Amino acid sequence: MEYTIKTIGVLTSGGDAPGMNAAIRAVTRAALNNNIRVKAIFRGYKGLITGEVKEFHTEDVSNIIQRGGTILKTARSDEFKTTEGRQLAYETLRREEIDALIVIGGDGTFTGGTLLAREYNIPIVGIPGTVDNDLWGTDATIGYDTSLNTIMDCVDKIRDTATSHERVFFVEVMGRNAGFLALNSAIACGCEAAIIPERKTAEEQLEHFIGSGFRKSKNSSIVIVAENSVPGGTQVLADTLKERHPEYDVRVTILGHLQRGGSPTANDRILASRLGVAAINALLEEQRSIMVGVQNEEIVYVPLAKAIHQRKDVQSDKVTALQILSI
Ligand code: ATP
Repeated sequence: MEYTIKTIGVLTSGGDAPGMNAAIRAVTRAALNNNIRVKAIFRGYKGLITGEVKEFHTEDVSNIIQRGGTILKTARSDEFKTTEGRQLAYETLRREEIDALIVIGGDGTFTGGTLLAREYNIPIVGIPGTVDNDLWGTDATIGYDTSLNTIMDCVDKIRDTATSHERVFFVEVMGRNAGFLALNSAIACGCEAAIIPERKTAEEQLEHFIGSGFRKSKNSSIVIVAENSVPGGTQVLADTLKERHPEYDVRVTILGHLQRGGSPTANDRILASRLGVAAINALLEEQRSIMVGVQNEEIVYVPLAKAIHQRKDVQSDKVTALQILSI
């Protein structure tokens, strides 16, 4: 073996996601099970730069599997985007005798980790933790399922008002540049359409929705809109529809940060637990600069560069199914 890992560091970075705690717990316990010490790094790369590090024992991760958010806190660090910032981060790793780093987050987190790995020859394993599900190479990311279920609960409630008042609602959900939450929640809630960044322009999708004769058999409509998929924002869609159909009562609801909170679903807890164990296994197998993921229910190792740069597409059959089922 070229190197022996005696101590790992673990951090959460970027947006928080339900299930991150389950991943921290799994990483910690799987490492300890292999006689590897665990140093928890607080506040993501920011804490790595400033040296916010604490050794974790098994009891430090007790009673957290069911908790949303991240006990390690998370932060965004512009300093880490600079070579000077990463130099400071590396100095913390050396001072704390951390031999390898496990980073839980999204593509930004992985981009930063890849740079650190390249510049300082540090083994890094990424665990996909983001509600957006926008990472290539894994069927799901930690937090996505919980967020999807939260959206479903909210939209079901909005449907009550939409039906009672015979309104059209545009409900904006998270997703950044991906339509997974929007498309899947639209299917799960029996919505009339989803506006997603993967298919055509938002205007074209709105035209399709209007052209579908959405009031033929229904007195209310809900359209789920992926954030950032409409230039100018979701209100623009509502205004366009109001101009075309002044007879309709059109409203916009932005679900916002409540989509990121709450106790993780069983699926997210199980996914996070598996990926945490897989991350330690990957290090023991001398893997470097990879993301652990799940494809067709099996654990896979994916080069971080691919996870970051390849685009994961929504399934076309879901787009078709939504159209067929929304008449
Ligand atoms: P989410 O999907 O929830 O937004 P994320 O990991 O993509 O999660 P970001 O804010 O994009 O969230 O990235 C988290 C952190 O990773 C940044 O604050 C920064 O410290 C680091 N990072 C992001 N991009 C880079 C980069 N190009 N170079 C170095 N570090 C980066």
